[in-house]
Amino acid sequence: NFVRSQAKRFRPNDLQTTFKDVAGMEHAKRELEEVVDFLKDPAKFQRLGAEIPKGVLLAGPPGTGKTLLARAVAGEAGVPFFSINGSEFIQMFVGVGASRVRDMFRTAKENSPCILFIDEIDAVGRVRGAGVGGGHDEREQTLNQILSEMDGFQANEAVIVVAATNRPDVLDPALLRPGRFDRHVSVDRPSRLGRVGILKVHVRKVPLGENVNLEDIAGSTIGFSGADLKNLVNEAALAAARDGKSQVDRIDFETARDKIMMGVAREEVLNA
Ligand code: ATP
Repeated sequence: NFVRSQAKRFRPNDLQTTFKDVAGMEHAKRELEEVVDFLKDPAKFQRLGAEIPKGVLLAGPPGTGKTLLARAVAGEAGVPFFSINGSEFIQMFVGVGASRVRDMFRTAKENSPCILFIDEIDAVGRVRGAGVGGGHDEREQTLNQILSEMDGFQANEAVIVVAATNRPDVLDPALLRPGRFDRHVSVDRPSRLGRVGILKVHVRKVPLGENVNLEDIAGSTIGFSGADLKNLVNEAALAAARDGKSQVDRIDFETARDKIMMGVAREEVLNA
């Protein structure tokens, strides 16, 4: 089935990502603990008639680990993870958005318990009627289909829909109503301590020179997201490899940081 094949699917045995891979974000992990518990044993909750959230919204700037976190929830619970990007619903062919949504939810229900992850939900979930001019029917139909699928979940269908956005302010309030994305978890740029933790995760397989001090690096990368820090470690390793070294030294991190900061500055100029 063409449509079904579009939703990327990760079977439980591919799911090596767990909370261990997510540095810091203790608050977010705590909030999601309940979802993990539920996915591990939905019947335990269903027997007691306990209402479990159907939708969780992860809100925060790009690269702060929203996708990583959603994947880690699936990994912790040992359930399949299906993911799709909100923009994919509208991109390909006009008229298929709503049917793709139907198909995606059907696949998820067939594989329940599972996580259905919708990245960049704002691409379909912007407040209705806010566009300039007309031509937004496609998006509205897609959004309406998502809402009706979520409303239609049966008590024995253990699908948790996790959505991510860096623009929670533009979302249609209908998405945020009780029974839909009514749990909100905010994911912020890491603090200095958070950056140390993220660096530690990403240097696990990197041989470091003795002069490398992760606290210092964290101190000099204010404003970096998790994705920026991952990139930093990789750029530093590339710099070391280019120089034929067998370990990554402080100077390599400095070179990498300068390179990334130049990129960030350029982006800021472009966005100004
Ligand atoms: P976007 O909004 O751009 O989709 P995102 O918030 O979903 O970004 P991810 O794609 O999850 O961010 O993060 C990119 C990469 O950055 C992750 O795969 C991971 O390697 C790294 N990363 C981000 N946050 C963390 C973290 N807290 N701990 C460890 N790694 C992190």
